[in-house]
Amino acid sequence: MQGEDSLKAFRAEMRSWLEENCPQQMRDGRITDDAICWGGKNWTFSSESQRLWLERASARGLTVPRWPTEYGGAGLSRAEEKVFLEEMERINARPPLKSFGISMLGPALLQFGTPEQNRHYLPQIARGEIRWCQGYSEPGAGSDLASVQTRGEDKGDHWLVNGQKIWTSYADKADWIFALVRTDRDVPKHKGISFLLIDMGDPGVTTRPIRLISGASPFCETFFDNVKVPKGQIVGEENRGWDVAKYLLTHEREMISSGGTGLSGGRALGAVMAQMAGEPSAQDPTLRAAAIRCEVDALATGLTIERYKDMAEAGKGVGNASAMLKYMGTELNKRRHELIMSACGSDALEWDGPVGNRAADWLRTKANSIEGGTSEVMLTILARRVLGLPGS
Ligand SMILES: Cc1cc2nc3c(=O)[nH]c(=O)nc-3n(C[C@H](O)[C@H](O)[C@H](O)COP(=O)(O)OP(=O)(O)OC[C@H]3O[C@@H](n4cnc5c(N)ncnc54)[C@H](O)[C@@H]3O)c2cc1C
Repeated sequence: MQGEDSLKAFRAEMRSWLEENCPQQMRDGRITDDAICWGGKNWTFSSESQRLWLERASARGLTVPRWPTEYGGAGLSRAEEKVFLEEMERINARPPLKSFGISMLGPALLQFGTPEQNRHYLPQIARGEIRWCQGYSEPGAGSDLASVQTRGEDKGDHWLVNGQKIWTSYADKADWIFALVRTDRDVPKHKGISFLLIDMGDPGVTTRPIRLISGASPFCETFFDNVKVPKGQIVGEENRGWDVAKYLLTHEREMISSGGTGLSGGRALGAVMAQMAGEPSAQDPTLRAAAIRCEVDALATGLTIERYKDMAEAGKGVGNASAMLKYMGTELNKRRHELIMSACGSDALEWDGPVGNRAADWLRTKANSIEGGTSEVMLTILARRVLGLPGS
């Protein structure tokens, strides 16, 4: 446990560092896809402030505060990280960088990667130089992820990969993909999968954006046609990729669940509803009661996430409990946005305009409870593996 005095000194240090280094333009708390830097070779900074903020934060290791300094992190303790995040929230700072490298692959590499892999990939992730996408789902393998059919044939010094992935978020913008590939077909399905890192620029990798009804294309189909993947690009052991995949999913689910703890910038739901919908609907007693219930549940979710983070810190791991956090966080986020829609009446239907994009935000929360494993599947994991209930 760190002493109060040392944390106090750390807070003062972070406060003055942020004051000096976080550009004013990055202090509006925006966390939308267009506001946050995703990094990677194809990234175009939306402003000089965004570029400066990434450069300064990564030079100080603060894009990945908990990672060891040798891998581009700041080596902060959990208590220090909390102080840093509180100080960020105090000035309403945007995160300097967001990426699947930070929230998904990085933790998996720290657990399963070789020292060479970690030295090679992690600092590039921390500096926002590589953008990763996630090659898990396939047309016949979503909830039943272990059914992946993309196959890797052993060719001595490399695997020859053929197959297709689907719903690969931002594959068309990514530099590399972490993918589940079947490398042994003659064993039970969980036991023949390897976790491979593949350069999206390699010959034989192509992507095709999937256009949504809104016109946007956040996902792609990703195809592998005789792609040569060097043997050094496996994470963990051959045919034991399921262990890596599951570990990564606990981090993905925990990351998705944090959306349930509140509106961005720590804004109170009631205040947002009053501001958006005006006084009359904010006075509606039923809506007010529902908003209070939602805020209390958000507080409880936030505290529960903190409790599990403390357990993980003590070496107990979050494991299957991440299914509970994911379920709670995403269902709560849906409730919150439904309340905002109810409060705003017909104004809420505006898709993208001066009063905002509430309908788009509300619809996005529905995707939240599908990505990273659906709510139904989370409930099954809870029933079987956490509560120990018998299967049907
Ligand atoms: C916004 C978004 C981003 C995504 N990004 C990525 C990405 O970057 N990379 C990637 O690999 N994938 C990605 N996905 C895919 C996502 O992981 C899958 O959609 C998800 O795992 C569900 O699989 P599925 O779509 O095949 O649905 P299915 O598995 O076909 O499920 C359909 C319905 O049946 C239910 N169901 C299925 N099995 C059971 C069961 N045993 N018990 C009860 N109900 C069940 C499900 O809950 C669901 O309601 C993304 C999805 C979304 C929505």
